Amino acid sequence: MMDVPKVEVPTIAIAGRTERFPVRRIFCVGQNYADHAREMGSNPDREQPFFFSKPADAVVESGAVLPFPSLTSNLHHEVELVVALGAGGTAVPVADAEGLIFGHAVGIDLTRRDLQAEAKQKGRPWDMAKGFDRSAPVGALTPGAPPASGAITLRVDGALRQDGDLSQMIWNVAEVISKLSAYVALAPGDLVFTGTPAGVGPILPGETVLAEIAGTAPVEVRFLA
Ligand code: MN
Repeated sequence: MMDVPKVEVPTIAIAGRTERFPVRRIFCVGQNYADHAREMGSNPDREQPFFFSKPADAVVESGAVLPFPSLTSNLHHEVELVVALGAGGTAVPVADAEGLIFGHAVGIDLTRRDLQAEAKQKGRPWDMAKGFDRSAPVGALTPGAPPASGAITLRVDGALRQDGDLSQMIWNVAEVISKLSAYVALAPGDLVFTGTPAGVGPILPGETVLAEIAGTAPVEVRFLA
């Protein structure tokens, strides 16, 4: 009889601690900065936020060297503030949402933009465009809630591609957590990617991507040529 497999829980680093943060689920919010919503052809008129997810084992540490993802010729970078939840809840009021946060980090929502465009056009799910292997590089967590403002940037081979500010979010972090908790019961270990500022664009094989948010550890990954 085949052995029952042993499955490891994915984890991410915590700045200043040897313990690691166990990742339970990864949720992402779409088009949460007005300039990015416009560049994707949407109206950023404070439409209700929408969510999608990635598998927990899509997380990748800073310093990783990654195979270029399969089945895409238009891999895009999206730098995002990530919050990690230390507590859960359903229908969490906005005023209580920050209390669920264990820590925050900078992440990259890697996207097969060509597959996403096809999915949008055909009214199909985004899973294979967003939730593929190694699609969620995340830097080490800084304990505590994130600041409401501060630079969020992304460079490809040193060239500045995204240059935003956390204060440009349409829905702030507490509002995002509150809205998400109406759809699912949030739980410790959940990560929330909170959307990307303008300037998303392609990554080519061989390139290095560096994402930074002021006050937290950067995340850098290189793609094999
Ligand atoms: Mn995104």
